[in-house]
Amino acid sequence: MLRVLHDPSDQVAAFRVKTRTPECSEALVDALSSLAQSMDVRDLLFELMNGTRYLDRRSATIESSEAARVAANVSRLAEAIAEFCDSSPNHSLAAYMAHLDLVLLSGEDEAPAAPERGGDAISVMTIHQAKGLEFDVVFVPSLVEGRLPQSGRSQRFVLPPAVLEPLVRGREDVVAEERRLLYVAMTRARKRLYLTRAEHYEGGRRWRESRFLAELRASGAVLERSVASAFLPTLTLPARGEVNSRAEVDKGDLVLSFSAIQSYRDCPRQYWFRYRERLPAAQNAEAVQGTILHEVLRRAGEERRLGNAITPERLHAMHAEVWETSGFPDARRAATFRRLGLEQLEAFRASGGFERTPDLLEREFSAAVDGFTLHGVIDRVDRTDEGWLIIDYKSGRPLARARRDLQVALYALGASTGLSLDPIELEVVYLAEGSAIRLEGVPKLQAEARTIAIEVAEKIRAGRFDPQPERRKCRLCPYRLACAEAL
Ligand code: SF4
Repeated sequence: MLRVLHDPSDQVAAFRVKTRTPECSEALVDALSSLAQSMDVRDLLFELMNGTRYLDRRSATIESSEAARVAANVSRLAEAIAEFCDSSPNHSLAAYMAHLDLVLLSGEDEAPAAPERGGDAISVMTIHQAKGLEFDVVFVPSLVEGRLPQSGRSQRFVLPPAVLEPLVRGREDVVAEERRLLYVAMTRARKRLYLTRAEHYEGGRRWRESRFLAELRASGAVLERSVASAFLPTLTLPARGEVNSRAEVDKGDLVLSFSAIQSYRDCPRQYWFRYRERLPAAQNAEAVQGTILHEVLRRAGEERRLGNAITPERLHAMHAEVWETSGFPDARRAATFRRLGLEQLEAFRASGGFERTPDLLEREFSAAVDGFTLHGVIDRVDRTDEGWLIIDYKSGRPLARARRDLQVALYALGASTGLSLDPIELEVVYLAEGSAIRLEGVPKLQAEARTIAIEVAEKIRAGRFDPQPERRKCRLCPYRLACAEAL
């Protein structure tokens, strides 16, 4: 009998041939033993499969689902042998068996050691082992064809058509399974995710980048950085407090921010991808520019609170400091963004933006609103003769009016409910345009925003995440690759 042993975690494969069976005669074993002295292990496996007609015989005696599993195991064994031959100069059976012994000895894919708490510990594990775990920072290496996804069979290893056909049919399933595996790896990250590849690993082979990176890149959800000959794409995740598991929502712990509410209103399925499944979304150059300008404005506000004047030189120095540590993702446009950002800050300063001393900066709030928690961060609050002025800085193009009003009205709602600020005025500063707008009718805007937020919360609690595909939105949606409804 021929037994194909396959480790369930797909990491180790080995086979044994027992000789006292009709399928594998002594003559065949003798012939294979002789061939094994000189033949490439890939060809030897072919001779073995051909000589024993193993898959034909097995599929005649077992159920079709079991036959498919057996065929998949043989396919995986062939892939494992091909991978070995790709990286080893010695393609003999003896070398392959020695390699398997080492793999088995290494105990690869055993349960990972528990991560050390309280120290700077790095956990190294396979993707299968990472299931169910989460880490602040995750590195997924080897995003190259042949490793993720794993390679197909070697060109030199050609199975008979009757054997090949179901395996080829299964190949797309294998790629889909590898894609799901990468998804598992990516979603282990709480804060930062690095997907890495190199053109060369061991040996002289030049590795092609994984098709999955191209798919991620097409989604716009990748920031790339070159490190020597490699690059490190990074993705961002929603803040932990904005993510709600099904269990939390059932317990009544639903937390919603403006971004979450707006995401749901744009497309409930998009909300589901981002806030329920925690699928990472892109931080493009514009978003990083916004983060930089907000940080400089916060620092300048802190300086004012200390009684220091904000001079052009001081502003310039603060901007340079923040810029240098930002890791701006688009080298080609970096100089332009840097210059424009500084110009916008200086225009804001020159127009009297720092004449008043801010009372609160980057102030976080959490407010209980009709069965859910409204969460957010307000850029700046100034005390005025009339009460409190909430200021929201906008670094990009002006938002549509309804979207803008909803955002700042939610801030007003959070500030009055969570921070007990009253009365409230609202101002939106458009840095790129050098203009500011005061909103009228704040109580009415607050009431409308409350109604919208309650409606969204009810639909989320009811588990309504139906897609709302629209060509314009889907084109910009970071989850279009994962979404079956994308237009
Ligand atoms: S691709 Fe379109 S339908 Fe799918 S989640 Fe995004 S916006 Fe919604």
